[in-house]
Amino acid sequence: MSELSKIFGSQVFNDSVMRAKLPTATYNAVKNIIENNLTLDSNLAEAIASAMKEWAIEKGATHYSHWFQPMTGMTAEKHDSFLSTTKDGNIIMEFSGKELIKGESDASSFPTGGIRATFEARGYTAWDCTSPAFVKDRTLYIPTAFCSYSGEALDKKTPLLRSMDALNKHGMRVLRALGNTSSKKVISYVGAEQEYFLIDRDLFMKRKDLIYTGRTLFGSRPPKGQEMGDQYYAAIKTRVLGFMQDLDIELWRLGIPGKIRHNETAPAQHEIAPIYNTVNVATDQNQLMMETMKKVAAKHGLACLLHEKPFDGVNGSGKHNNWSIGTDDGVNLLDPGPEPHKNPLFLLILSIIIKAVDVYAEVIRSSVANAGNDLRLGTHEAPPAIISIFLGDQLTDIIRQIEEEGEATNSLHSSKVKMGASALPIFAKDFNDRNRTSPFAFTGNRFEFRMVGSSRSIAGPNFIINTAIADIFAEVADRLEAAEDAQAEAKAITAEFIRNHKRIIFNGDNYSQEWVEEADRRGLSNINNFIDAKRTLLQEKNVKMFERMRVLSEKENQSRYEVLVENYNKINKIEALTAIEMVERDILPVVHRYIGEIASCINQVKETGINIVLETQKRLLEDISVLAVSADKKVRKLKEIVDEVSSINDVTEQSVAYRDEVIPVMRSLREDIDQLEALVDAQYWPIPTYGDMLFGME
Ligand code: ADP
Ligand code: MG
Repeated sequence: MSELSKIFGSQVFNDSVMRAKLPTATYNAVKNIIENNLTLDSNLAEAIASAMKEWAIEKGATHYSHWFQPMTGMTAEKHDSFLSTTKDGNIIMEFSGKELIKGESDASSFPTGGIRATFEARGYTAWDCTSPAFVKDRTLYIPTAFCSYSGEALDKKTPLLRSMDALNKHGMRVLRALGNTSSKKVISYVGAEQEYFLIDRDLFMKRKDLIYTGRTLFGSRPPKGQEMGDQYYAAIKTRVLGFMQDLDIELWRLGIPGKIRHNETAPAQHEIAPIYNTVNVATDQNQLMMETMKKVAAKHGLACLLHEKPFDGVNGSGKHNNWSIGTDDGVNLLDPGPEPHKNPLFLLILSIIIKAVDVYAEVIRSSVANAGNDLRLGTHEAPPAIISIFLGDQLTDIIRQIEEEGEATNSLHSSKVKMGASALPIFAKDFNDRNRTSPFAFTGNRFEFRMVGSSRSIAGPNFIINTAIADIFAEVADRLEAAEDAQAEAKAITAEFIRNHKRIIFNGDNYSQEWVEEADRRGLSNINNFIDAKRTLLQEKNVKMFERMRVLSEKENQSRYEVLVENYNKINKIEALTAIEMVERDILPVVHRYIGEIASCINQVKETGINIVLETQKRLLEDISVLAVSADKKVRKLKEIVDEVSSINDVTEQSVAYRDEVIPVMRSLREDIDQLEALVDAQYWPIPTYGDMLFGME
């Protein structure tokens, strides 16, 4: 066995461990439950718990933990030891079925939005048997969903699991109506490409902004950025490679198939992508991956920055969310095949997705809104805030045929690439070139949703995409089930959806100003900020969709809105307070000292009687003083505004005030500080510069 296959999944209570540890009948019963979404009975729970405990103890575990994903976007864990005492004072290791399937937790300590006011504090964690348990740091981690005393979702996982159910239910209805009798399940998958920055940990520890907020609030641009294009896919530096190798091993042990690693566009920026999995498992794995990245970086004396925009003026980080749907018997429903015009099921599903993305564009946009992404979306590095779909030449041509003639009768064929040297192979071109600017791009057998921010859980975007698409599947299923000729009806629906929703398709340059204007003419929305995006969650159309698909009740939706907006407000407050502290306590004191230094230099020069340099020195003194006075004024103003804004009660109103009042002052304060940085003696400057952080790695 290769080294890799020995370590891969060695810390995971996966299918083969279960098969080895459980009696065959029990194993089969458990598999049946997991695969068919059935409810576990207490005997089976006991059997699994006992096998899990035995396995975990063999792996060195002393504790177990219900691992969940509250609305903070982080993961949460409370450790209980397996330890129990007997009457005669001895200890035994215990773990019951009850402890496996249900845990209790104080819900009021986690963000709950409106639900907090009306419900008791008690909350529950419930075992999610579709995502495997694992051992890490001598603890058995059990993936769970987190809900309130009366069953309201308080976490990221519950709506995701519900959305998978909705997609499965209505997806299966469509397949059945079209005569599929073999598939049992429709499953959504995702592969999330994770971008990140790595910098030296000593430099990180010297920057309060990075420590408190994950991004730099100040920093003037270094002479060199990414303009040379010498970073993307560049040879990986030794220290970074050491980190990547260690990271891969840690991830493999946890059963996370890290597959791709490379340098990204910006200096000090990198990417890791695992092999895709069901959206639920992929979401858990992405959370675990982000935590592991931070830990492994620390071991290597590095800091891993997952923020969407750690450095102003330098490309930010996203998390390309490669989404697809397939059946349990192995069919990728987004695989067009060599001749898509002969694949009516694919075309129907494509038209369903086109309609879903058009009808629910705003709520899909809202799913990626967070404070960090406001600094990234719509600038010339990331998709704009306008949602559109890229289909590429072949599918666009098919769509045109359907639109014009009601059906497609031929598919464009791919041509050959000839490189002109006899030593090089001739190969078939991909049907579609890539379009790196599209927010929702078809990439051959999946859609790549590129707006997702690098720091956030992918649960939000995926439960919203799943639900939106499930909703249109439901509409189509109703029509197909009522039709006399389902195939003919499917064809009619495909043409109708394409005609009515083709405005969402755009194959051109999404970064161009022309597209902004064109999108406006098409009536597509362009929501460029957090609060306007999040508000769309509360639009009646969206509230109803979540209810209809049984993914979120109106109350759950409202409470999540509040939690997310509160979170944005808190982030902005922390950023403002950090900026104030850095300017008042670190930067301005140094600037004043330097002013004193120049002033005494001037006096010394005067004493010599040689005056030619005096004018230069005075000009410097004046420039720096003007900026210092201006920065001081702004920082005072910022303090006042933050005080005022943080006393606003209504979360939405407060959020608007952060956007319109606090952020502009922060930005303007930053301009002064960044100019000061460019003037003050580098020896004096109290915090590491962009140059140090981005180009400091050997
Ligand atoms: P890119 O070339 O776009 O940077 P990468 O190769 O870095 O893409 O990552 C592609 C991601 O898409 C991987 O996580 C991969 O596992 C995932 N992926 C591939 N096929 C599918 C699919 N059918 N459904 C979902 N994700 C997929
Ligand atoms: Mg990639």
